Amino acid sequence: MRQRKPLVVANWKMNGNSDLVQQMSEALSVLNQPLPDILICPPVIFLSHFPKHANYKLGAQNMSEQLVGAFTGEISADMLRAAGASHVIIGHSERRALYGELDAVISQKVKVAVDAGLTPILCVGETQQQREEEKTLQVLARQLDAVYAAQPHLLAHSVVSYEPIWAIGTGQTATPQQAQQVHQFIRQHLAQYDAHAADVLRIIYGGSVTAANCEALFAEADIDGALIGGASLKVADFSAICTMAKDS
Ligand code: PEP
Repeated sequence: MRQRKPLVVANWKMNGNSDLVQQMSEALSVLNQPLPDILICPPVIFLSHFPKHANYKLGAQNMSEQLVGAFTGEISADMLRAAGASHVIIGHSERRALYGELDAVISQKVKVAVDAGLTPILCVGETQQQREEEKTLQVLARQLDAVYAAQPHLLAHSVVSYEPIWAIGTGQTATPQQAQQVHQFIRQHLAQYDAHAADVLRIIYGGSVTAANCEALFAEADIDGALIGGASLKVADFSAICTMAKDS
């Protein structure tokens, strides 16, 4: 039996509406226990539309590294907590690539999230070119060290999501073996900071996960769940993935 409870995260990105909130909450509410931990990260405006239910938790897709003040358009960790979020995705590759988020800001966001009582889901991953140049592990070590080298205590409060950029939204999922190899590297690498925290850390995989390919991924020893974009917008598919994760 696995010692880490699986976690399945829905990242709706800038998609969804009130109808999807209703359909998703109804579908998840009738799933029978035991379930994995299920987390829905809709656009923040919809957080308060979700009825409270024991079968799922709510999270955000991003937050400010600032606590309060004149930062137009930003949302603070405390505000997310007040809106019902327990988790927050940090450093998603779309934030890094499209909004210029650098390691230093991402590191600060992880700290601010933990200080506010939110669980950060730190996203790390390499580009296609970096993989072809065999720099995958080097890139991941840099992204992880940027957060945990100076702040190792944050590890015990984190989730890490391995998201190869070439697999996000492309239909080109990493093979279970490719993902497992990286997850094992992440766990071993982080053990230098806190061996126990690295052992119990949930390392989830993201990148074109579907109901058809999730079972083989969940069967790998170091894959503790999934972060799901496209398939999380389809109620039946997402529910099926959650159901399969509980058995892993
Ligand atoms: C993501 O949003 O991080 C993601 C993994 O998306 P998709 O499942 O669509 O590849």
